[in-house]
Amino acid sequence: MPELPEVEITARRLDAALRGATIESALAPGMVALKSVTPPLEALVDLEVSGVRRVGKMPVVEAGAGDERLALLVHMMSAGRLQLFEERASLRDRRSRILIRLTDGRELRLREFGTKQRAWGKVLAAEDVADDEMVATLGPEAWPAPSVEELAKVVDQPRHLHPLLRDQRSIAGIGRSWVDEILWEARLSPFKKGSEMNAEEVERLHAGLAVLGAAIEHYEEVVGETIPDKMPMPLQVHRREGEPCPRCGETIAAIHYAERITCYCPKEQTGGKVLADRRLSRLLK
Ligand SMILES: [Zn+2]
Repeated sequence: MPELPEVEITARRLDAALRGATIESALAPGMVALKSVTPPLEALVDLEVSGVRRVGKMPVVEAGAGDERLALLVHMMSAGRLQLFEERASLRDRRSRILIRLTDGRELRLREFGTKQRAWGKVLAAEDVADDEMVATLGPEAWPAPSVEELAKVVDQPRHLHPLLRDQRSIAGIGRSWVDEILWEARLSPFKKGSEMNAEEVERLHAGLAVLGAAIEHYEEVVGETIPDKMPMPLQVHRREGEPCPRCGETIAAIHYAERITCYCPKEQTGGKVLADRRLSRLLK
């Protein structure tokens, strides 16, 4: 599940590797993946890649120069990866959503793991990226962190912190893995309502956002030129149900949902309370 730190390191590595490379062809073997009508994906052909950057959880590949500059805005959803390969994939590789072939023989691939086809890419004029619906509606970037004052405004909503922080329109870049880490770092309950936080709690949440920058630093050290299929995520609590809390030793608890899991330390985050597991409550109904 690529979130801000994973997409940031992906964009950095791809930027270093792709800058100056010329696009020979651009294909979308799974038509579902291609959202744009105009310009078509083929508009990228013959253009030189001018850079790769990140906005929220989306990588943006830019190509061409001057007024003709185009951008490929990519949304990896929950199981997509944007990876560079030395050789071309078979068109029958069912994981491939978009294939950008370069004249030097390499290939940039948007691949998707799992059975669902959700990842997508979209070509648009580079200057229009900021106005694209998916970009224009984003809240402030979670990293570098907004000011404490700005964060206080972001969280002033009568919603639980867990969904609030994962809502890209509130704050951009956080998903289901890093939200657990941020809330654990800040010693805040996933079920605390944003609008019920006091100033000191907002400051703790602000400090908690630092886990994103720390993750990027970690990736800078351990991720080589190629982005691996499985990122070495430095997680302390997410997916660590039943393990001791690295800070206080309490057993990490979890709440299971259909498509995600929320992990937390009951002693430090929920006042000692172990919250009802939604799977169990559903069965008991
Ligand atoms: Zn703890």
